[in-house]
Amino acid sequence: MEQDSLIQTTRLYLNTLCRTIPTRRLGTQGNRDATTFFKERIDKFGFHTEAQPFDCIDIRQGEIQLMVDNQSFEVFISPFTLGCDVSAELVSAGSLLELENLKAKGKILLLHGEIAKEQLMPKGFVFYNPEEHQYVYRLLEEKKPAAIITATSKNPEAVGAIYPFPMIEDGDFDIPTAYIKETEGEKLLADTGKEVSLKMESERIPSNGENITAQKGGVKKKIVLCAHIDTKERTPGALDNASGVIILLLLAELLADYYGELGVELVALNGEEYYNTPGQVEYLKRYNGDFNSIVMAINMDDIGYFKGRTSYSFYGVPDKITKKVREVYADKKDFFEGPPWYQSDHGIFMANGVPAMAITEESVVELMAEITHREGHTRDHRPENAGRERKSARGDH
Ligand SMILES: [Zn+2]
Repeated sequence: MEQDSLIQTTRLYLNTLCRTIPTRRLGTQGNRDATTFFKERIDKFGFHTEAQPFDCIDIRQGEIQLMVDNQSFEVFISPFTLGCDVSAELVSAGSLLELENLKAKGKILLLHGEIAKEQLMPKGFVFYNPEEHQYVYRLLEEKKPAAIITATSKNPEAVGAIYPFPMIEDGDFDIPTAYIKETEGEKLLADTGKEVSLKMESERIPSNGENITAQKGGVKKKIVLCAHIDTKERTPGALDNASGVIILLLLAELLADYYGELGVELVALNGEEYYNTPGQVEYLKRYNGDFNSIVMAINMDDIGYFKGRTSYSFYGVPDKITKKVREVYADKKDFFEGPPWYQSDHGIFMANGVPAMAITEESVVELMAEITHREGHTRDHRPENAGRERKSARGDH
């Protein structure tokens, strides 16, 4: 394809993925429309495509109201939570010890301070799950509060640095949960012991989604190129990650006449932005046994931002391949070898000993290198606090 034609096709794809389709959030019809579109396009270029369906939930959220003595508080509905309409005594815990010693059954529980300092990894998140987080979940489930409000701080080290962030973002946790700014939380804390009413509309709807894989060329050895197709709520996801998906579609077209010995697998993964990454889990379940055939996996996420350059980085890639890739990029001034960045789908390959590369935009890696250096474990990779305007999700993360 000529450059002009590539650009024109890119516009078309971008329009379809970000405008015609209203949202690609996992669980929505838009998400399924996006994977169908991806599959139908790639089919045209002679690839063998396969859908990998899995179950998930869709979420419908409405109003929230928190009242004490006719005074209302600014409060937010946690992602993936169940709704509630409850009036009960307010109790609070600022630490694990306080929570351990608290009677909270049927009450509204305010978590604040030390215990609410970071987001809990979802209960069913298989890739990283610290015991301390699991212990907090167990305690909460034992204590059986009617609802939970988490007051979270402005923590510049937290991913996305969004204030407030939901301490709990977990579709497998069944106690209704809201979140509130630390400053509001302090005001609310003064009402401990009083009757509080919390009403929030949030509903989980059984749904489904799918990954799409597309193969071409030989089967003994292959290179995998992947990009996540889903988005966060209320974001068109042009940069995160329609751009990565579009690269896969353009590659498919460029490879329409490819019949080489080295196999090529293009994968639209689904669920990177969802609490327990079900698409990634499904892909591993089906393909893990075949990972020995992967020469290298290349993940693209958040690429093509109009400011800054594009970063590439290597994870366990043999020197011979690294050298070759560096040669290819050597005279391309818009690209540079960036610092390591772990918070995206190349992680599933790295964790399974498959050489991997990540391609993303400059501000993401700069920011994340700084954060992961300090925290070393977060799974998120949102570049919202990279100092540029961008539609945020629900204020989460
Ligand atoms: Zn992403």
